Amino acid sequence: MTLAAEKINTSFDPEVIRRDFPILNRRVHGKPLVYLDNAATTQKPKQVIDAIRNYYEIYNANVHRGLHTLAEESTEAFEKTRARIGRFIGATDSCEIIYTRGTTESINLVAYSWGQHNLQPGDNIVLTEMEHHANLVPWIALSKTTGAELRYIPVDENGYLVLDKIGEIIDGKTRLVTVTQMSNVLGTINPVKKICEIAHDRGALCLVDAAQSAPHMNVDVKDIDADFLAFSTHKMLGPTGLGVLYGKKEILSKMEPFNFGGEMISEVRYDSAKWNDLPWKFEGGTPNIEAAYAFHPAIEYLDQLGMDNIRAHEMDITEYAISRLSELDHIRIFGPMNIEDRGGAVSFTDTDIHPHDLAQVLDQNGVATRAGHHCAQPLHRKFGVGSTTRASFYIYNTKEDVDALIDAIRGARRFFGYE
Ligand code: PMP
Repeated sequence: MTLAAEKINTSFDPEVIRRDFPILNRRVHGKPLVYLDNAATTQKPKQVIDAIRNYYEIYNANVHRGLHTLAEESTEAFEKTRARIGRFIGATDSCEIIYTRGTTESINLVAYSWGQHNLQPGDNIVLTEMEHHANLVPWIALSKTTGAELRYIPVDENGYLVLDKIGEIIDGKTRLVTVTQMSNVLGTINPVKKICEIAHDRGALCLVDAAQSAPHMNVDVKDIDADFLAFSTHKMLGPTGLGVLYGKKEILSKMEPFNFGGEMISEVRYDSAKWNDLPWKFEGGTPNIEAAYAFHPAIEYLDQLGMDNIRAHEMDITEYAISRLSELDHIRIFGPMNIEDRGGAVSFTDTDIHPHDLAQVLDQNGVATRAGHHCAQPLHRKFGVGSTTRASFYIYNTKEDVDALIDAIRGARRFFGYE
């Protein structure tokens, strides 16, 4: 049987998947844990937890530096995951996969290494109004040091990008367009392929923030034709402290390093240094080897389930969540209502209860959600709210989890005396 045939035949059963996640057996405040904070970070299957233990029990050694067996094995595993990540997102060469600490560092790397050297007053960077602070603040800082202007593609009241005027917003002076593929607040899936095409037509580069998309849907850098693409392993079953920056080889090879020190050099004299080859040129210092080792089984896990099956499951759960939340006339849901256009991060407000109070009472019922601005303050301000409560779904969530959320919201209304 081919791998593809196996994938198609894999029956996607969250009840079976749940058995791989020890933490889901936990109780919180005496209630079974209902984990709905997956946009912040996902839980880890035992395959990943075991790998972390294995790494320290069997392989632990610094990479690239030693000629002893442990160092060679650890280096081999570290590089094997890099190649696996490359295949997972459709990169042609694993030297296009840079290990970072997370999406935030990946974007900062581009802002420093590319931005500081390629922008001048009069140039502009195009963002969208729905960016996470990680894909907003580095550009604000860069615009201050380079004099480049920041321009924003607006978001409409239904949570979609307004693309009518994109041909004016992106112009001949645009050097970079940077856009999230899936909003962590609105859930909106943006047409990044089309946006990259428009950027390229104008001679600009395109960066895709895939922190929320890579864990939940098929992401193919060649199909999108992204120049850069960033994501974090902790949002896709993997360990924290590791992220990825994909970049086109021809662009990365022209960029200056970001972190200077050990590993990123080929030769050093007291007064000069030559940089290492890609990808190590960008990986100064000892990396998160354990996380790279343990991310391999995470990718295998996702791949075995099939990213299309994961997307289909999340569409099903999200559709159910939106329909159940819509039954509550005191709840306002943010983002697209059309399920095809969105992922499983569902932010909402209650007309009477503050999002923080609501999340706290939900927690008393074992339901873990997140309340706040979700690192998208300007977007919340645009929608006229300071904060929202967010439920976000993943492979192990069930419709019963959604029912528990709805029951807990009703319970909170009773608790605060509104019902
Ligand atoms: N971009 C988006 C869309 C996100 O949702 C997040 C995480 N909430 C980030 C960037 C930043 O990811 P990290 O904190 O792992 O660097």
